[in-house]
Amino acid sequence: MAAVAVVGGGPAGCAFAVTAARCGHEVVLYDEGRRLRTWPGESLPSGGGELVASVLGVEILDGHQRAYGTAAAWGSSELQTHDFMTHWAGHGWILDRDRFDASARDVAATTGVKVVHERITELPRDVEWVVDASGRAGTVVSRLDVPRIVCDSQIALVAVVPDIGGEKVTTVESAPSGWWYTTPLADDRRVVALVTDSDLVDGDRASAWRSGLADTTYIRVLAGDVRSADVGAFPSGTAYRGEMIGDGWLAVGDAAACFDPLSSQGLVTGIVMAARAAAMLDGDLAGWSRDYEAVIAEHLAVRGEYLQAETRWPDEPFWARRLSPPD
Ligand SMILES: Cc1cc2nc3c(=O)[nH]c(=O)nc-3n(C[C@H](O)[C@H](O)[C@H](O)COP(=O)(O)OP(=O)(O)OC[C@H]3O[C@@H](n4cnc5c(N)ncnc54)[C@H](O)[C@@H]3O)c2cc1C
Repeated sequence: MAAVAVVGGGPAGCAFAVTAARCGHEVVLYDEGRRLRTWPGESLPSGGGELVASVLGVEILDGHQRAYGTAAAWGSSELQTHDFMTHWAGHGWILDRDRFDASARDVAATTGVKVVHERITELPRDVEWVVDASGRAGTVVSRLDVPRIVCDSQIALVAVVPDIGGEKVTTVESAPSGWWYTTPLADDRRVVALVTDSDLVDGDRASAWRSGLADTTYIRVLAGDVRSADVGAFPSGTAYRGEMIGDGWLAVGDAAACFDPLSSQGLVTGIVMAARAAAMLDGDLAGWSRDYEAVIAEHLAVRGEYLQAETRWPDEPFWARRLSPPD
């Protein structure tokens, strides 16, 4: 059995740590205890709750917001709804991420993982495996000079506003400067976000967000009065590492691959692939890495098709880049 250091106690790091500990490995999980002022309103799709429970071995979603569907105006001005109640796996979830991550770390601690609340600045020594689960920054892999393939320069301009009511669904709408989503949170507020390319926001992100919102049909109605909205920015680019494993290290979650937020796939993929890697620590990790590459290739193909289905603004830079991507 191996001594393992996991850097990062987000969803992927916890999924890895819990699974590895259950397989008998000696696991230390380091987490710096990040707290964001605003989270971007992440959701789990239908079946995501069951999947999290099956990986962690316990239900941790009590008190999170149930999600009953999505509505999207994409490729046309018509809003198409998709009701989760007709999905075999039932409703999805809108997460309170601080709470979700803290619950997952509690599960790790009760599974025999040593949880250390500390920021890692030097690579841990005296372990057989260092697992990079530090998110987009890739604390470990970036020190190892592992190549990062960057597919776009997206950012999300995110504001949290009072929820003026409406159904508990995530609404997505494409617009000239990018695409928007709005998600109700559990506490009578809602996230309203614009995903665009970072170089298309010149200077004042709050002005870009407000002027873009005025171009939407559905999102601006759901957003209500946004005069006092405070707009934050999150890196949201699609990117992945050229290698997921190496001599004594592997990367999981966003440290390995950041999925386009359009897919709402980051959490589920990160959790599943992290758990699979942990279960295979003594086995075919090269096979795991090939599987991960196949998942990323599939994501990029579907993402390309979805983005190219929006043809209404071929001369707007955000869409022109996606309609004719470089080779
Ligand atoms: C705008 C936006 C919307 C999104 N919407 C969705 C969605 O609806 N559904 C979905 O599934 N995904 C969504 N995602 C993606 C999702 O947020 C990520 O895929 C997910 O958070 C990745 O989990 P992770 O565990 O890999 O990394 P993270 O959640 O980033 O966790 C990394 C952890 O590592 C810790 N850490 C970092 N560096 C160190 C260090 N040096 N030492 C110790 N600890 C460290 C941090 O404190 C953190 O706890 C969205 C992303 C964005 C940007």
